[in-house]
Amino acid sequence: MSLRRLDAMKSKKTLALWLNHKLPCGLVRPPIQFMKTLLILGAGTAGTMMANRLRKRLTAEEWKITIVDEDSTHYYQPGFLFMPFGIYSQEDVIKPKRHFIPGGVDYLGAEVDRVEAEKNRVLLRSGQHLKYDVLIIATGVKIAPEQTEGMLGSDWGTRVFDFYTFEGASALHHALRAWNGGRLVVHITETPIKCPVAPLEFAFLADRWLIDRRLRDKTEIVYVTPGSGAFTEPIAAKVLGHLLEEKRIKVVTDFNVDRVDNDRHKIISWDGKEVDYDLLVTVPSNTGDVAMGRSGLGDERNFVATNRHTLQSKQHPNIFALGDSTNLPSPKSGSMAHFQSEVLTENILRHIQGEALESQPDGHADCFVESWHANASRLDFNDDLQTAEEKYLLPVMGACSLLHETRLNQFSKLALRWIYGTCGSEVCLCRELALR
Ligand SMILES: Cc1cc2nc3c(=O)[nH]c(=O)nc-3n(C[C@H](O)[C@H](O)[C@H](O)COP(=O)(O)OP(=O)(O)OC[C@H]3O[C@@H](n4cnc5c(N)ncnc54)[C@H](O)[C@@H]3O)c2cc1C
Repeated sequence: MSLRRLDAMKSKKTLALWLNHKLPCGLVRPPIQFMKTLLILGAGTAGTMMANRLRKRLTAEEWKITIVDEDSTHYYQPGFLFMPFGIYSQEDVIKPKRHFIPGGVDYLGAEVDRVEAEKNRVLLRSGQHLKYDVLIIATGVKIAPEQTEGMLGSDWGTRVFDFYTFEGASALHHALRAWNGGRLVVHITETPIKCPVAPLEFAFLADRWLIDRRLRDKTEIVYVTPGSGAFTEPIAAKVLGHLLEEKRIKVVTDFNVDRVDNDRHKIISWDGKEVDYDLLVTVPSNTGDVAMGRSGLGDERNFVATNRHTLQSKQHPNIFALGDSTNLPSPKSGSMAHFQSEVLTENILRHIQGEALESQPDGHADCFVESWHANASRLDFNDDLQTAEEKYLLPVMGACSLLHETRLNQFSKLALRWIYGTCGSEVCLCRELALR
């Protein structure tokens, strides 16, 4: 017998012994565990919370967790509201994403091209494939100003700005510093948008900022919405509606923008209404990630078709979605993503065990409505976008009023960034403390 054949037989024998749990030295090895992969797309608020929660609940021997994101910077998006007024600086709202990813989770900086759900794998823009056993989609939403005719015209960046992106909020800060009065229009293109009250807060903050600079009497503030009122939900409208009148903010309702006329500095609606602007602060259409559309998982706006109660994909049982990326009617906010992450963690564990998924109870989203100097109100939305009119408890501080302008509510809103930024991987725990 040749030496090579003898070697091959020896290694086959070793392998056979190994598979039969017997090692040549007499030791017994533990049964082979085939490691499975849980893949998370998007390392924003929702994806990061899921990575933190699941790493604590799934053993590293059995489950490899990988999280993928195209942008290495984590943005504290609620801070974009304050940047134009110089309340927060650029440094206040950015941190490296890795800062929030727990040990034991692989972080991959890459753009997702599409999900190939039939093959249980994800194709990256680089051409690389990532296999998964369970997939979580947390790719959020992006602004799509290109979807409105003329929005990206010659006025974009000179008279027309957004504050839903880091770049937009930074550019608007410079534009406001040069402002000497005129017509300031705050505008929502269409709904849903993330943090639905942010445009209204912007108008309130602008009012205060202009008063402080003695520019309020030289500035007309106009709030333009496709909705039937600034507050479409009856309880919020009843309690907060008076603020607009008090602050002399004119409201234009039922305005469905068709195009931006850059030459005449007007926005024009489908039914021919026109609103002039000197400065247009717009919230462009918010859409899901195009990669979800390419994957056949998204609706016409690329929002992922998701079961409202279980957060499971409506098409594939091993795919789940949460946060802004879903097509759910719940408000698109970080606090809603937080409540969803609690439900989804339990459901992923149930899915892995082959158990029936649990339906989520009423989800909540919190929005502190920044209204004026040292005051804010807090809206508490449930899944059906109904607000609650009660009190809520903050650790140490006790009961705070919902829906009433108080200094404590404003403190809570501003404290969020500090808590969020300082706690790193404990981001979910800290938000929980801050939001309850
Ligand atoms: C001005 C403003 C004010 C706000 N105020 C509040 C507030 O007061 N309270 C509140 O609760 N919420 C607020 N929000 C909303 C909150 O920030 C979002 O709802 C929250 O961040 C949603 O989390 P997410 O993980 O779903 O999406 P994101 O945090 O946006 O994360 C999505 C991630 O997916 C990544 N991604 C997307 N596509 C791809 C791809 N193809 N490949 C790889 N990576 C990809 C992105 O880079 C991003 O990191 C505010 C938002 C804004 C803009």
